[in-house]
Amino acid sequence: MEGPITEALIDNFSLHIQEDAFSFTEQGEGPCNCLAALSGRFCSSFMTLCSMNTFETGPIRPPSEAGSYLIRLTRGCPWNKCRFCRTYRRQRFEIRDVAEVEADIDAMARIRDELMSGQSVHDEYGWMVSNALNSGGTTAFLQDGDSLAMKPDAVRRILGHLKARFPEISRITSYARSRTMASRTVADLASYRELGLTRIHIGMESGHDPLLEIVSKGATAEVHIRAGRRVVEAGIELSEYIMPGLGGRELTAGHALDSARVLNAIGPDFIRLRTVCLGPRLPLWEEFSSGRLTRLSDIDIVREIRAFIEALDVKTSQLASDHILNLLGELQGQFPTDKQRLVEIIDRFLALPREERELFQVARRAALVEKLADLDHPGIQARARQLLDEIYRHYGRDGVEEAMREMMERYI
Ligand code: SF4
Repeated sequence: MEGPITEALIDNFSLHIQEDAFSFTEQGEGPCNCLAALSGRFCSSFMTLCSMNTFETGPIRPPSEAGSYLIRLTRGCPWNKCRFCRTYRRQRFEIRDVAEVEADIDAMARIRDELMSGQSVHDEYGWMVSNALNSGGTTAFLQDGDSLAMKPDAVRRILGHLKARFPEISRITSYARSRTMASRTVADLASYRELGLTRIHIGMESGHDPLLEIVSKGATAEVHIRAGRRVVEAGIELSEYIMPGLGGRELTAGHALDSARVLNAIGPDFIRLRTVCLGPRLPLWEEFSSGRLTRLSDIDIVREIRAFIEALDVKTSQLASDHILNLLGELQGQFPTDKQRLVEIIDRFLALPREERELFQVARRAALVEKLADLDHPGIQARARQLLDEIYRHYGRDGVEEAMREMMERYI
């Protein structure tokens, strides 16, 4: 069933999604996430021909890189088979020429110089550079999905050029696949670090081999560990992404425990939660529509995260819940110090009476709240109450989960 209430919720939700368009990562296509998507005027798919002050950007970057220069080394993903991901489905994988990437960097540097000297640059490229400058102008992100698939010498040349043209940059980060990282030597990775690469983001998704096989991740738990250890040994910060809910009811225990086990063996700097967002457009959907896997409710996913956190035994990792798809946005903390506090947040949520939990679910999915305490605000609570009552009317008392799924499916 679909009614005006879902539309109203989605309208509300979309507004916030656009404000945080970059929160979308490797799930589905989502909206165009290139920097200028915020201005609604430009997308890498409609790349204009290269002239003096233009450069190419890819479609996505982590939320933490919202204010970074985007340097595109590759187009698409060399694997492109993960069954929960459609980000690069229509993009043939290409490694860009080093000279082309260097020309992009030169163009960005020229625009930076023009802006710094007080000139206005009224186009999308000026907007992108100005966005990076407004955030300090000291960070850069290498695109696309597995930029470090580029040959090590080529990566070194680009990093060297970037540092030469942007000596003020102090943080350079990149996505990478575990398989790619496992195929590089620690010496290669350490040479990247010396040239300024400070952080690598890896979509681990799970440490549970049966699930990694089902989703066609192209990496086993052992490969994840080998890759992660290499990055850590090279002295590069490592950010690993886990996808709660990915294995449904059948694999929830294995997913939680093996993911924690693999992360315990790696000891990454960051562990980021990215709750799965399932829908008929994803190849993975077939597992759920055929009944081989059973979708978890929001509450079951929170229970899975609790089991995962309980099993985490990391000494230096920071847990981040920095994505709108995560129900509990406040699951942020440093391990091991904050572990108990994080479990208590979950227990507080699970102990709420059903209607209060539903009130929070609706408020979160409508992007009204991030933390449980946000619901104490009378205005927010009144708005959430109104939305929940409308859901009850349209979907029935047992229809909240269905309404929430319908809303979330719009975003993949
Ligand atoms: S490796 Fe990343 S970008 Fe490539 S298909 Fe898998 S999730 Fe998508």
